[in-house]
Amino acid sequence: MGIGVLRKYRDYLPVTEDTPLLSLGEGDTPLVRSNRLGPELGCEDLYFKLEGCNPTGSFKDRGMVVAMAKALEQGSVAVMCASTGNTSASAAAYSAYCNLPAFVLIPKGEVALGKLAQAMAYGARILMVDGNFDVALKLVRIFTEKHAITLVNSVNPHRLEGQKTAAFEVVDVLGDAPDYLFIPVGNAGNITAYWRGFREYYQAGCCNALPKMMGFQAEGAAPIVRGAPVAHPQTIASAIRIGNPASWKSAVEARDSSGGVIDMVSDDEILEAYRLLASREGIFGEPASAASLAGLLKHHRQGLDLRGKRVVCVITGSGLKDPDLAVSSVAAHTIEVKPTLEAVEEVTLSLVS
Ligand SMILES: *Cc1c(COP(=O)(O)O)cnc(C)c1O
Repeated sequence: MGIGVLRKYRDYLPVTEDTPLLSLGEGDTPLVRSNRLGPELGCEDLYFKLEGCNPTGSFKDRGMVVAMAKALEQGSVAVMCASTGNTSASAAAYSAYCNLPAFVLIPKGEVALGKLAQAMAYGARILMVDGNFDVALKLVRIFTEKHAITLVNSVNPHRLEGQKTAAFEVVDVLGDAPDYLFIPVGNAGNITAYWRGFREYYQAGCCNALPKMMGFQAEGAAPIVRGAPVAHPQTIASAIRIGNPASWKSAVEARDSSGGVIDMVSDDEILEAYRLLASREGIFGEPASAASLAGLLKHHRQGLDLRGKRVVCVITGSGLKDPDLAVSSVAAHTIEVKPTLEAVEEVTLSLVS
């Protein structure tokens, strides 16, 4: 049963007697063992953490439930966030569940259709900003400093507290931390949260090792890799189209203290991984999610030896979030047939042996 992260991991979270233990069933997402790609890469122990299985289809729910619970506990009257889409979908859902109004600022024309549909359906007040995510986030930060409305972007510390529970789950299932954790990097909150989760579990004696954190930005939106903010970030992976990550420093800290890397992958590499994930593993993640697998493939090509290693790729959000891209980027096997048995037999039987 989905009891939610607040109940399941309350001892590790900022839960007091007054914190409402809300849940839409977030967390407890599947860790699926690779059936085809892992063996092809010489890695018998490759897993995908399916964060698209959260209530709104991305890992954002883990942090949002904590941020919302704390907002309620503190008597907040409304919440606000800037979003490339998934944060607004999540804020909108929990706001509907809690009856706390949500204002979401999204970059006009840059949010994937599924995410926009979610914010609309859940009834958030949507403010379309004529600017990119970084501009919207700056606005929200200034606004929430001035007004008594709770900021629920990942600069709200409760967000990362909730998100670290994904690392706990990985350890709970595997019995220890993996050798490598591959993860997409946008605003860099999630890599920060996972690292914190692994370290806290390590300190609590729940695991005996720590993973190397392998973070991946998109080539056109790779400020951490390039060492400077990117004014006009560009990539098909809209969830990581961020030019000035809020958690930049802590992501670098996670990289350095884990002995990992933060690298970049091209849109072509992201799309290749996106297609492979769906067509070879049966896992449909959104493009940004595929940056983790794209990173794994890139480093494998460059000689990273995965034999005997335990590897987790975080698949951060559902492929259904971005249906336009799915339809336009995949050469689908569609065949037109007449509505007769003979016509169906003719195109089918020759394809199976
Ligand atoms: C938010 C998001 C990311 C990026 O996570 P950060 O914490 O911003 O680095 C990656 N993939 C998906 C699907 C997301 O929603």
